[in-house]
This record gives sequence, C-alpha cells and structure tokens, in this order.
Amino acid sequence: MIVGGAVRDVMLGRRPPDWDLATDLRPAAVATLFPRVNRAGEKHGTIMVLTGHGPVEVTTFRGEGPYLDGRRPSTVIFHDDLEADLARRDFTINAIAADLATNEFVDPFSGEMDLRRGRVRAVGDPRQRFAEDGLRSLRAIRLAAVLGFEIDKATKDALPGAVEVLRQVAWERRRDEMARLLAGAVALAPAVRLLVDSGLIREVAAELEPAPLKAVARLDRLAPDPWLRLAGWATAARLEPHAAAGVATRWRAGTAVARAIESQTKGYQRLGRRPPTGAALRLWLAEVGPEAALGAAALAAALRPDPWQRFPAAVRRTLARKPCLSLATLAVDGHDLEAAGFFGPAVGRILQALLREVLHRPALNQETRLLALAHTLSTATDPRLALGP
Ligand code: ATP
Ligand code: MG
Repeated sequence: MIVGGAVRDVMLGRRPPDWDLATDLRPAAVATLFPRVNRAGEKHGTIMVLTGHGPVEVTTFRGEGPYLDGRRPSTVIFHDDLEADLARRDFTINAIAADLATNEFVDPFSGEMDLRRGRVRAVGDPRQRFAEDGLRSLRAIRLAAVLGFEIDKATKDALPGAVEVLRQVAWERRRDEMARLLAGAVALAPAVRLLVDSGLIREVAAELEPAPLKAVARLDRLAPDPWLRLAGWATAARLEPHAAAGVATRWRAGTAVARAIESQTKGYQRLGRRPPTGAALRLWLAEVGPEAALGAAALAAALRPDPWQRFPAAVRRTLARKPCLSLATLAVDGHDLEAAGFFGPAVGRILQALLREVLHRPALNQETRLLALAHTLSTATDPRLALGP
C-alpha cells in the first residue's frame, strides 16, 4: 500500500518527492525482504529500503498510545489494520492509501473529496488532534499554503487552541515547516494571515507579526528561497538587521544563514530613495558585499515600486564586469607600497584611500597609476595620509 503524501501528490497530478509504503508485515520481516535497508527507525515501525531510485520508507501499520508531551506518542502499537493506521494520520488528504496491485483506494475519511474541494481537514476531532501533536497546526498551515488550499472551518477554528502545545515542539521542527511554507507557498499573505489570526505566530516569530499583509504579499515575487523570503518578511516588519538574524538563530538555521539575513537586510536599509548607479552603486556593493547585495537588490525589487524593478539586473551587470570592490582586488598591496617607500600605519590608510578612489574611477586600478596616486595622496594636505617620519 502507498500511503500519505505520495498518494495525495499523485492524485493532484504532482510528482511526489518521496514514496511512503505501509504494510501489515512487521518491521523485522520487511528488513529481511530487501538486500539493502537502513533499520534506524525500526522501533517506530519504519524500515528504509535503499533502492536504485532513492530510499523508500516502509512502515508497519501503526496505532499510537497516548501523547504525553505534545510531541510524540508514549507507545507505538503495530497491528494488521490499515484503517487504524490511517486514523492516526493528521489530515484527510494525507490519510488515503492506494493498493499498488489492484489500483484500489482506501479512503475512510473522504480525503479524495477534500482534495477535490481544496481543503485541509483534520482526521477526527481537530482540537484533540492538534492537542496531541504540537506540530500539526503548523503542518495544516504549511500544507494549505503549499497546495493553495483552504483550511476547513472546524479545523481552522481549532488553530488558536494549539498555540500552547506548539511551544513544546523543537525549534528545528518548527523551522522545517516554516522553511517549506516560505519556499513553497502559492501565496504567502494568506498563510501569514492564518499564523497571525490564530496566534501561532507567537510561537514562530512574534516580532514578525507587525509586517503588513500588503507588503508580505509582495514577497511572492522573490525566488523560492526560504531564507531570502524570511529576510523579506523581516524587512516588511521593519526589523533591525540583528533582530532579523535573531529569528534565523532561534530557528536554528545556522550561523551562515543568520549572517546572510543580517547583511541582506542591512544592505537593503542602506539603499537610498533611488537605485544607486555608477560610483554610488560600487560604493554600496563594496560596503554590503556582492553576495548580500544580490539579496538586498532582490528585496528592493520585491518591496519597492518601479524604478527598483530593474535594480537586480543592474547589480548583476555591474558585478559581471568584476569591478574592484575590496583591497583583495586592488592592483597594489601593502608590500608594493612598502617597496615604494611607505611604512607603518600609513600603509593601511593609503590602501583604504586608494580603494576609495578606485571605487569612484575603476580605470585607476593599475599598479603604476595607483603608486603615483599614493605619492600624491601622501603629500596632500591631509595629515592622516602623511608618510611616516
Ligand atoms: P510532504 O513529504 O510533502 O511533507 P507528507 O504528507 O509525505 O508530505 P511526511 O512528513 O513525509 O509528509 O509524512 C508522511 C505521512 O505521515 C503524512 O502524509 C501523514 O499521513 C503522516 N504524518 C506526518 N506527520 C504527521 C503528524 N505530525 N501527525 C500525524 N500524521 C502525520
Ligand atoms: Mg513524505
């Protein structure tokens, strides 16, 4: 039997990212059937069968004991009953099984009807199902967002009651749902509205709540990169860069992601009223860094009106010319200056001054021209650039 997301995706005409199989065979029996398996999930009934087309999870029909901590059932019971296995699943559209051999469907909760109507509906009493497992409320919103579905009224009405139990779920699991929502939502604004109206936003990122939905809607224009979209959401909420990065840190998204979000939002903040061009653009690129600049430009194109739509392309064109934006690509370095007679702290100051000049006039970035310029600068009236004693 195929179960869960794969049946749902096939019925919707989508290609499932993975296939989950269910069987009445016990895990130990499944493990002996296939040459290559991973038994890490055996206790919970899952054997991962390694195939030439990727791993397939084969799970023994399960029932679950009582949920004690809002995260996982206290016990797992294996049995022979497919319907009981489907009854423990979260939503009707995820509780359909298909028999590979006979092409028959087992659909005790009318999941096919909900698929056709575009509805996410809990299996059984939504309040109880949300209370059992803190992640389900977030899964409901993520599924609805990604499939472009509505949440059935009784299920939606149960969302506010699920705020407390979401607090008990590990941040990594909340992050995974949010990342999939951000990357895959057909439209972000309705999903964010659900998070805000239900109060679930408080257990995801309360500081994002002030973002106006009109601004959130514009984030649909961003590439489906969850972290760029998070940076956009934070920008819409007018968070300071360190606060935007703070959300990623709390979501355990890794320091590289947090740093990228901080520099993208900072880069966005440093843009003026009109898109910079020429020297102003190169100065901004040098300050922000090329990588973050591309993100910041994408944010500006999404969130701001017209002249900004062409800004990302302008940034890419300028970067393609490989302008000198940092000391690393300046045509002279500290050794060159020392060889020319400069020494001490003046060397660093002159390098910075040369970089500033090159950002204004890229053609200056040649060794002879820069050494000549260094001498001019050092004899200029600015005492900070003067040669050492
Ligand atoms: P996708 O892989 O696109 O997220 P999926 O539905 O396959 O969709 P999985 O997390 O792979 O999601 O879960 C497989 C199946 O297990 C689901 O279709 C659902 O039937 C069941 N399931 C997953 N998480 C829960 C949960 N928290 N509570 C109840 N059932 C769940
Ligand atoms: Mg799946």
